[in-house]
Amino acid sequence: MEREYQVLLYYHYTTIEEPEEFAADHLTFCKGLNLKGRILVAKEGINGTVSGLRADTEAYMEAMKKHPLFEGLIFKIDEEDQHAFKKMHVRPREELVTFRLNEEDVDPRERTGTYLTPKEWKEAMQREDTVVIDARNDYEYDVGHFRGAVRPDIETFRDLPDWIRSNKEQFQNKKILTYCTGGIRCEKFSGWLKQEGFEDVSQLHGGIVTYGKDPEVQGELWDGQCYVFDERLTVPINHVNSTVVGKDYFDDEPCERYMNCANPDCNKQILASEENEHKHMRGCTSECRVHPRNLYVKEHNLSPEQIEARLAVLGETMPVRS
Ligand SMILES: [Zn+2]
Repeated sequence: MEREYQVLLYYHYTTIEEPEEFAADHLTFCKGLNLKGRILVAKEGINGTVSGLRADTEAYMEAMKKHPLFEGLIFKIDEEDQHAFKKMHVRPREELVTFRLNEEDVDPRERTGTYLTPKEWKEAMQREDTVVIDARNDYEYDVGHFRGAVRPDIETFRDLPDWIRSNKEQFQNKKILTYCTGGIRCEKFSGWLKQEGFEDVSQLHGGIVTYGKDPEVQGELWDGQCYVFDERLTVPINHVNSTVVGKDYFDDEPCERYMNCANPDCNKQILASEENEHKHMRGCTSECRVHPRNLYVKEHNLSPEQIEARLAVLGETMPVRS
């Protein structure tokens, strides 16, 4: 049976003269279609993900494709049973992707890596002389990635250039392949790599989500799930031989269940089983567990005695507050 909702993911580098004004109008337009999601608008273009009833998402895509600013815009479409967001936001931003701070930005319309189709990508990544670089955050890599891909030791995307510069040798004289969720981050990253002097740079066109939908490759050579920035948190990619690569933060058991640390000042995103969530009061460290504003404690209405009991199991105690 046809599913009632669709989730759309898209980006387009173009020139939007008045991002603030555009964002306000676009929000009204999206709300009129009962869409929910998050759209960023900048002078350099648009990047969005929205969910809605099929008829509404179809109307949205049709209007966007007709818009003179968005010629060639490609939508990645997922069929779902419900909205993937709670609200609709359209936000003006300085740039679509925060890549480098205090350095001249890369314009993907001027310089970017070679686009590879899913089929070309799958062939290229199996060659001896290639190196595959994951252009996402560490917590995204940890729940799923291309087999053998390099996991840059960084916490956020904008640290990637410095990391590449200090690990240059491993990429020299190699064919470099880069990938990310929908392709937008690679547009800048691959352009930057070329600017840095790497000659053979290619990127997965349409990103991981497109790779997972390709009827021929069917997501092969992808291990685990793909992290997405909506309420679904992860989506399946490999439809041939899927595996679990995510590991429970607390006991290293296979796990694909995400949560945020219950200490609102920490909010670290971790993978953990339901059992471990309860056991550790959703705190990533002993400090986070006993944080005075621990959200888990609040949600479950834990009494001081109950907290003490949970801590005792972990060999921890409540700190004395002065
Ligand atoms: Zn924490």
